[in-house]
Amino acid sequence: MNIILLGPPGAGKGTQANLLVQNSGFSQIATGDLLRSEIEKMSPLGQKVKQVLSSGQLVDDETMVRLIEVNIDRKMVTGEVNFIFDGFPRTIQQAVALDDLLNIKGMVLNCVIKLIVDDEMLIKRVSGRYACASCGAGYHDTLNMPRVEGVCDSCGGMSFKRRNDDNEQTVRSRLASYYKITDPLTEHYKNEGKLYEVDGMVSINQISDNIRQITEQCVE
Ligand code: AMP
Repeated sequence: MNIILLGPPGAGKGTQANLLVQNSGFSQIATGDLLRSEIEKMSPLGQKVKQVLSSGQLVDDETMVRLIEVNIDRKMVTGEVNFIFDGFPRTIQQAVALDDLLNIKGMVLNCVIKLIVDDEMLIKRVSGRYACASCGAGYHDTLNMPRVEGVCDSCGGMSFKRRNDDNEQTVRSRLASYYKITDPLTEHYKNEGKLYEVDGMVSINQISDNIRQITEQCVE
């Protein structure tokens, strides 16, 4: 089954996608992670999109659809079939292209789960978040600190990294672009009968339980 996690930056899409991967055997396709890895590799794609990411704008649809297509194909070769799309689609054009891509591959989109979080909380979450440089475990300056200061709970790593687009100014521009360009997908998927809304302000475990119940409900 295939799911889209929809919601503004900081809504918790990445956290919930990770839990679905660990607990329910899904395969995650997170377009932001894919782009950041291209930037780290300094590939031609990375060089093309670097400035776009640091300004908080969206990468063009053609590039994104190509990136998704390549990554679906790559994962299908290794037998992965149940996808969570995290951060894609972000425009109506991307949504239409995803439908076409899934169709061609004989797959369907089962449900779209939108995480609802208020703006002040989003800004607080995003502008304080950081991650372990070794294992990627996520932390926050005030909301989720490691048990021992400066030491990763998961792997003991002692170096951490922050995304350079996770500052208040860029978050505000990412939020503005979310409401203008991405949020209309809510109506699009509501009209298709695929939209489920989840309160993203309750505990991570509660959100994850709610998502699991939805995924059980929307199996083909
Ligand atoms: P994220 O990690 O999902 O917050 O994405 C980080 C950045 O990558 C975004 O602010 C955009 O610049 C770019 N990006 C990720 N996914 C998409 C997408 N589907 N369409 C356009 N740009 C994207």
